Amino acid sequence: MSNWSNAIAHVDCDAFYASCEAARRPDLKGRPICVLSSQNAIVVAKSYDAKALGITTGMPVWEAKKLSPQVVCLAADFRYYGQVSNKVFSILRRYSPDVEIYSIDEAFLDMNGMRSLWRKSFQQIADDIRVSIFRETGVTVSVGISNTRTLAKLASESNKPNGTAVLPGQRIELFLSDLPVAAIPGIGRNRAALLQKFKIHTALQFAHLEDTLMHRLLGRHGMLLKHELSGRSVLPLELKQVVPKSIARTASMGQLSHDRRLIAAHLSYHGMRLVAELVAKQLLARRLSVFLTLASFERQGTSVQLDFSTSSLKRIMAAVKVCFQQLFRPGEQYRGCGVVATDISREVSRTDDLFGFSREDTRQTSLMLTVNHINKKYGDRTVSLASVGQVKKKRQAPRFHYPLFIAH
Ligand SMILES: [Mg+2]
Repeated sequence: MSNWSNAIAHVDCDAFYASCEAARRPDLKGRPICVLSSQNAIVVAKSYDAKALGITTGMPVWEAKKLSPQVVCLAADFRYYGQVSNKVFSILRRYSPDVEIYSIDEAFLDMNGMRSLWRKSFQQIADDIRVSIFRETGVTVSVGISNTRTLAKLASESNKPNGTAVLPGQRIELFLSDLPVAAIPGIGRNRAALLQKFKIHTALQFAHLEDTLMHRLLGRHGMLLKHELSGRSVLPLELKQVVPKSIARTASMGQLSHDRRLIAAHLSYHGMRLVAELVAKQLLARRLSVFLTLASFERQGTSVQLDFSTSSLKRIMAAVKVCFQQLFRPGEQYRGCGVVATDISREVSRTDDLFGFSREDTRQTSLMLTVNHINKKYGDRTVSLASVGQVKKKRQAPRFHYPLFIAH
């Protein structure tokens, strides 16, 4: 096949929240960084050196501190991460007019025709992108360029952090032969286990799987992935920024549970991902719903109207908490949960805030900056959010895989 029948770049920031914090706090250079969810003491993101120390997402802060007293713990500040994210996307628009914002720290670029426009190879363009973003934001990114979005994403992941990988058509098969099937985006643990029963262990075996069997095992989704991995682009970039009717973050918990804290932790995780999406796409939500799925698969939901359209983590989490308290029944077994934002508008067209309530959100950010500043001067933990440290220290707390908010 030809090398560049189609060209798509995937740009992904490395350890984004922690990198943003490191970028505005040069004094932290060389220290492992953990970012905490704003309402509690659970690690939601970490720098590469924090990861190397064994710190994981979902770990209580005291445990992270025990692993390394050096670790710096900062509260998540989505307003600031949104600003860095928008700066990154504006740099990307210099390299291609067609950019799909995929998440707060990821984008896809249509690179067709860009080599002749820039008179550079894809390798040089990928390096230019990486260097410009670091120079202008202080955040490192990984860049992958290939024939399809799925291959571009796999390429960028193959050389993380701060790396580039260019994968032309003729090198795809060699690349896929080294890649386990579970590395394919959209192939989770269950699907990988199913494929392994059919002796499909590598991404190359997946790409070569016969159509009828692929259909039987993974349906239409599997067929799309097969085309994408074979270098045939079937998932086009979504370039039109339409305001969605709703944004949902939901998942099964993978187990039945009646544990209030565990379900609250899952909801907290969904809430944070929802805020990240709103911030990345410069959207605001006016209404927030929460639902819990019972063991019988019946869904119970409730929603609240927010005072004004917002993307503030604090406000959205407060609404999630109110809904959760209304819904949760002790002793009931739950299998899943989710958070849905509706009545969505663009950030630029904020007209419903006649009394300036939303400026509070900005004040929260400046307060956070002040807290960080004091910590910088007098050492960590001089000032912290009131709820940090509320995790009971006496008993061994369960190791949550999701951030947890304290449910009363
Ligand atoms: Mg990333």
